[in-house]
Amino acid sequence: MSEANSKQSGRKAPSAQSPTQGATSCQSCDRTDCPALKRKENESEEQFRERQQLQSRLCRIRHKVIVLSGKGGVGKSMVAVNLAATLALLGKRVGLLDVDIHGPSIPTLLGLEGEILRVSEEGILPVDIGGMKVMSLGLLLRNQNDAVIWRGPIKANVIKQFLKDVAWGDLDYLIIDSPPGTGDEPLSICQLIGTLDGALIVTTPQKVAAVDVRKAITFCRQLQVPVLGVVENMSGFTCPKCGELTTILGSGGGKRIAEDMEVPFLGSIPIDPKIAEACDSGRAFVQHYATSPTAELMRRIFEPLFAIAESSDATAQGADLPKQRSQS
Ligand code: ADP
Repeated sequence: MSEANSKQSGRKAPSAQSPTQGATSCQSCDRTDCPALKRKENESEEQFRERQQLQSRLCRIRHKVIVLSGKGGVGKSMVAVNLAATLALLGKRVGLLDVDIHGPSIPTLLGLEGEILRVSEEGILPVDIGGMKVMSLGLLLRNQNDAVIWRGPIKANVIKQFLKDVAWGDLDYLIIDSPPGTGDEPLSICQLIGTLDGALIVTTPQKVAAVDVRKAITFCRQLQVPVLGVVENMSGFTCPKCGELTTILGSGGGKRIAEDMEVPFLGSIPIDPKIAEACDSGRAFVQHYATSPTAELMRRIFEPLFAIAESSDATAQGADLPKQRSQS
């Protein structure tokens, strides 16, 4: 992916800049079922305008997918980056939003440290790398070592701004990298977006990680977010010299949980030193090592997610894959 920033494209979102008092539509589309068409009871004028601004951004994004994990360090951000990069390489218009407020790692994984955000009349401009638009709190911190010490309501507000005040433009996919667990950040994002296409859940094979996957699945069910599937990462290591497979962290934990919880299992990604190297050097693995067997495997794992686009283009916007409908 080239590092050159490119200009924002897409049409203007009029209401994002000049919402009119008492407006009955955010004027960004002509949907008659738009949730921001009417002011809700108990909603102030200001809250209504904010909701319209948020909606005018969201309705320009066709598919929203959240990447979750029960535990940290399982490779969730790595999967989010490579899913977004795979889609961008397929020519899709992609946004990658890092809502990990306390440990934003997307700027490091994509080599964006020191990148300076700019503002246009449309809003804050995400960093654009080869057609993939990236936003993270890490891009707003002056120093990488700065610790963010915020409580729930402030975090929820920041996440709202990431959606409402960032000039995402027209996107095919917004991939959201959530912090591990089922805390404030994933809850805020699910509530703000309303209709997510679904969640991709990343785990490692060990029991200790897999147990938390159940919680992540339960969280999705409670919020009526379809589970698109479970990916098991760091699943074995094949010795490059003798070819012997060693299951360093065990194997099969992700698959077992997926079967138990009746959600799709999308596949396993092995431990691959090239993945670690790509992450450390700020490059998307699927692009940098495009011809490697692991990159090919990742593309296959992500394939069912591309079906979301096809299936929901044929049905109503935001509709679930048939397999997910039975879950909630
Ligand atoms: P999380 O978001 O779950 O906390 P990350 O995606 O940041 O975890 O991954 C942490 C690090 O683990 C990555 O920067 C990368 O170096 C390494 N890593 C992740 N998955 C793999 C893998 N399959 N093979 C080798 N290294 C990996």
